[in-house]
Amino acid sequence: MNQSIERLLVLYTGGTIGMQQSAAGLMPASGFEARLRAQQALEAGPLPSWTFRELQPLLDSANMQPTHWLQMASAVRDAVAQDDCDAVLLLHGTDTLAYSAAALSFLLLDLEIPVLLTGAMLPAGSPGSDAWPNLFGAMRALQAGQVHGVQLFFNGVLLHGARVSKLRSDAFDAFAEAPRKRLAAAASERPPALLPQRPAQVVVLPLYPGVGAAQVRALVASGAQALLLECYGSGTGPADDVPFIEALRHAHRQGVVLAAISQCPGGHVDFDVYATGSGLRDAGLVSGGGMTREAALGKLFALLAAGLDHAEVEHWFCRDLCGEMAD
Ligand code: ASP
Repeated sequence: MNQSIERLLVLYTGGTIGMQQSAAGLMPASGFEARLRAQQALEAGPLPSWTFRELQPLLDSANMQPTHWLQMASAVRDAVAQDDCDAVLLLHGTDTLAYSAAALSFLLLDLEIPVLLTGAMLPAGSPGSDAWPNLFGAMRALQAGQVHGVQLFFNGVLLHGARVSKLRSDAFDAFAEAPRKRLAAAASERPPALLPQRPAQVVVLPLYPGVGAAQVRALVASGAQALLLECYGSGTGPADDVPFIEALRHAHRQGVVLAAISQCPGGHVDFDVYATGSGLRDAGLVSGGGMTREAALGKLFALLAAGLDHAEVEHWFCRDLCGEMAD
């Protein structure tokens, strides 16, 4: 489908792309719209016409919280409902760009317009910066009708919003889709629109030699509604540690969603391979297949924030909603 864009919103949230130097280091700066218009006058070829909005406060994305995902999602929905926008280009810092892209993939699951995120490793205007190539490249991809759902445009490449991770902090090709096996667990039922009703607390616990019941109990006591366990290899963990397994069982009985992904960048969960995997499943863990941490975190957040109950969250977590688990 090649549908050209008529009303693009450029939504500026901060990030290196528009930062200026301060005594403390690079900081987000206002006034990016004028710089963008001036630069556009020098660009060749047709670009979509756009309006511009700054989300306040402008942030280094290292300061982003899940509430900012909700703020971005509602700014996108407002642009569609109130201003009839047919595409959104979101400018964002790179540090947590993959988390926001994943969360928005689920929070905007029902939205039909393309939402493209980009940012830069060097500020616009600094020598050799990737800012303008990323930004105008993103506009051109939108204009060409190449963007579907939530995606990321970076260093000349379009990437899936719920499969991408930041893998480098020192190069222009900072983002890549994880080489994880995505199990074809496509949902046969239509997934629900995940309209946020309430905040949700999801906590990530990477497994490591030495982790135990105390860590699980502390996280549950902190108010976690879901515990995302980054398991070893194919979804294994210390299943012989009776207090650890009992702490997980107890959390599950209390209504905490226990979700598993693999901490191997090229891995996926298959609880059946080892007894140390099936022991985790028996304690109540559900498999996130080959989902990235960003995708699993954003998905659990969106499912819980939408007010789904424990069983519904477990049901949808294991099913592919937007290509995060299946092609
Ligand atoms: N710390 C910056 C941010 O995430 C890094 C960047 O934008 O590249 O906002």
